[in-house]
Amino acid sequence: MSTFRFNPVFAGLGTTIFTQMSALAVEHGAVNLGQGFPDEDGPPAIREAAAAALRDGPNQYPPMRGRIELRKAIAAHARRFYGFDYDPDTDVVVTSGATEALTASIMATAGPGDEVVLIEPSYDSYRPIVEAVGAVVRTVKLAAPDWRLTEEALRAAFTAKTSAIVINTPLNPIGRVFDRAELEALARVLAGSHAVAICDEVYEHLVFDGRPHIPLAALPGMAPRALRIGSSGKMFSLTGWKVGWVAGPADLIRVVANAHQFITFTTSPALQLGIAHGLTHEMDFTLGLTKELQAKRDMLANGIAKLGFRLLACEGSYFLTADIRGLTNESDRAFCERLVREVGVALIPLSVFFAEGTPDNLVRFAFCKKRAVIAEAVTRLEKFFGNEKTHR
Ligand code: PMP
Ligand code: GLN
Repeated sequence: MSTFRFNPVFAGLGTTIFTQMSALAVEHGAVNLGQGFPDEDGPPAIREAAAAALRDGPNQYPPMRGRIELRKAIAAHARRFYGFDYDPDTDVVVTSGATEALTASIMATAGPGDEVVLIEPSYDSYRPIVEAVGAVVRTVKLAAPDWRLTEEALRAAFTAKTSAIVINTPLNPIGRVFDRAELEALARVLAGSHAVAICDEVYEHLVFDGRPHIPLAALPGMAPRALRIGSSGKMFSLTGWKVGWVAGPADLIRVVANAHQFITFTTSPALQLGIAHGLTHEMDFTLGLTKELQAKRDMLANGIAKLGFRLLACEGSYFLTADIRGLTNESDRAFCERLVREVGVALIPLSVFFAEGTPDNLVRFAFCKKRAVIAEAVTRLEKFFGNEKTHR
C-alpha cells in the first residue's frame, strides 16, 4: 500500500475502458470495434502540409492560443457551416485535442462549491476533471431506448450553484443527435441560470440521414454562454494528432486560455498548420466521410440485427449501440470480456459511461473501420451467435 497522499480522483481510477479493450483485442487477435478510431488515415494533403512544416519549420513554441492560420480557419469553418462570427484573435483557443479543450473549459468554469451538470451516458473524461477541481457532478440521466433530454430532468439537476453543463451532440456512446426541441429546452433552463454551456461537438459533421447538427450556440441568447469544442481528429480521421479547439465569446475564452496556458501552453505547430490546411481545403473529405460512415453503420446494423442484438437508433457519431438481453444474462462488461476472448470481437460495455444505477444490458460497436474489418467482425459474430447453443 502506498503512503503517498495522492489526489483521490486519479488514485481511484484505472486505465480507461478504451485502453483496456484495445489491449485485450491485441492479446486475443480480435477485430477491434471497441475504441473509436478510424483505421484509415485522413487526407494525404493534410499530412503533406504538416510534414513540410516539420521539415521547414516553424518548430518552436507557437503562440499560446494557437497559430493564427489555424484560428482563422476555425473561425471561417464556423462561419461557413453555422454563420457564427468568431474573432480569431479573441474567440478561439487551439488545444491538444478536444480532451484538453474539455479540461481547460471545465477548469475555467468550475471550482470548489460549484456544480457541473453532466448528461449520462457521458464521455469518460468529464467527471474526473469536474471532481478534481473540487466541483460536484449533478447528473441528468437519459433513458433507453429514446434517450431524450427533457426540460424537467434538466430543471431537477440545475441549482443556484450550477456553473456549467457539458452537452455532447452527437453523443458518444449512444449516437443521439439532440433535436431543436431538446436544445430549446436546455436553452430555457440555461437562460434562468448563471451556467456556461460546454458544448462537446467533436462529431459535428458525423450526423446521418440528412439530420442537421444544431450547435446550442445557434439558439437565441446562447452564444454569449456557449463554449464550442471541436476536434480535427474526428473531422479528418487523424485521432492521434490531438489538435482540438474551443471557440466562444472573448470573456469566456480569456479564462479558458488561462487554464490552457498551464495545461499544455500550446500544441505542435506543424500539426496546427496541417489542420489549418484541412479546414480550408479538405472539408470535402469530411463531408464524404459522413456518407461513408452512414453506409458502414447500415452494413454493421444489417449484419448483427439478425443475430439477436436489439439495435438502438444511431443518428450520428462513430457508434452503434445494441441491447444484449436476447443473447445473454451476463452484464455488459462480462459479455464484452467473453466476446473478445471467445469470438474475437472487441466492443465497449455501455455501463462505463454511467456513474451509478446503470443499465448493464447495452454494448457499443464502433463502425469507423474498413468495410473488410466490419465484415470480418460480422462473420465472427455470425459463427458464434448463429449457433443457438452458444446463447447463455
Ligand atoms: N469528446 C468525445 C465525445 C469523444 O468521443 C472524444 C474522443 N473520442 C473526445 C471528446 C476527445 O477528442 P480528442 O481525441 O480530440 O481529444
Ligand atoms: N473517444 C474514443 C472512444 O470513445 C476513445 C478515445 C480514448 O481512447 N481516449 O472510443
